[in-house]
Amino acid sequence: MSRTPLIAGNWKMYKTGPQAVTAATVLVKLCTGISNPEIMIAPNFIALQQVAQIFAGSPIKTGAQNLYFENQGAFTGEVSADMIKEAGAEYVIIGHSERRQIFGETDESIRKKIKSAVLSGLKPILCIGETEGQRDEEKTFQVLDKQVSDGLKGFGPDELVDLVLAYEPVWAIGTGKTANESQVDEVHRYLRSLLGKLFSQEFADQKRILYGGSVKPENAYSLMGIEDVDGALVGGASLDADKFINIIKYNESII
Ligand code: PEP
Repeated sequence: MSRTPLIAGNWKMYKTGPQAVTAATVLVKLCTGISNPEIMIAPNFIALQQVAQIFAGSPIKTGAQNLYFENQGAFTGEVSADMIKEAGAEYVIIGHSERRQIFGETDESIRKKIKSAVLSGLKPILCIGETEGQRDEEKTFQVLDKQVSDGLKGFGPDELVDLVLAYEPVWAIGTGKTANESQVDEVHRYLRSLLGKLFSQEFADQKRILYGGSVKPENAYSLMGIEDVDGALVGGASLDADKFINIIKYNESII
């Protein structure tokens, strides 16, 4: 089963509008002609529309880092899926651990966000992952099972054609600690078999499961070589165009 890998950059709350424009322009030059892997950058909302315009016609897709599940209304400070789509995004990251931990997102609100993304034609990237404490208590699979089952409850497989899953162990995000190859391999296999149980084997085989957590040029090649890893969600290293392009070109990496 061939799944085109996706290397997705999450710029988080970094880069002002002008800084995002400069970085996007640099990336377009660096990524010219690349058709595999697929590439995505999620800038902040302020920069989204301008960055999407810069990426238009290039191999780089635009994503948002979050959305609110209502279409419109009195929801001060929030942005809807339709607004994001209209601004030029193709993807949206949903349920990032920072949103779960800092902003109190639950599997229930995450499910509504996925629904809203699907209805608007945005491709959702559902982030899941255990904390260090949960791993130490050997609850990793239990936690992931709940995040996936509850987050995707009630959906039919046809609604989730564009769903991407991102396994991001919380203890590896922004810490410099990367899950080792056997940990990543074990979890990604587990997630694919869980998708098979929840939907069908065909569905599971088609789904891209990204790894995220301190991915950098030095470890991209070995992580991407794991059978059930179909790309990466990259935070810190996506802010630096040289590092990000070396992750995108992981196949050529000799680091
Ligand atoms: C992330 O924020 O999704 C992430 C993986 O961050 P980092 O690459 O910096 O660990």
